[in-house]
Amino acid sequence: MSELLPCPFCGGKAEFCKVGVNYPFKAGCANCEAFTKGSAFENNEYNAQCWNRRAAPPTGTRYRDEAGEVAAVVVPAEPTERMVDAGEYAQEHGCYVSGIWADMTAATPEPSNP
Ligand SMILES: [Zn+2]
Repeated sequence: MSELLPCPFCGGKAEFCKVGVNYPFKAGCANCEAFTKGSAFENNEYNAQCWNRRAAPPTGTRYRDEAGEVAAVVVPAEPTERMVDAGEYAQEHGCYVSGIWADMTAATPEPSNP
């Protein structure tokens, strides 16, 4: 299946297209100028694989909603000691699972700058 993820830059709808001469077959954004490097062959499977390849966001990345509130946090596969402490503290103070989870994710360390 050659489905394309939305554009990683603007969130626009992606599509297969033909642009240029040497490597004309590409996947790209219908909204902005983002394209894959392309292929000499009309191979949508290959172009979809190129377009859909994304780097994983670093642990601690916060995604915010339109109001600026944290809507999602990239958490580590194993909680840090600080996250466990936050969860235990919430549990000791009568929080249910959602409250414990909220405190643990809030304690996720911010991504470190390389
Ligand atoms: Zn775009």
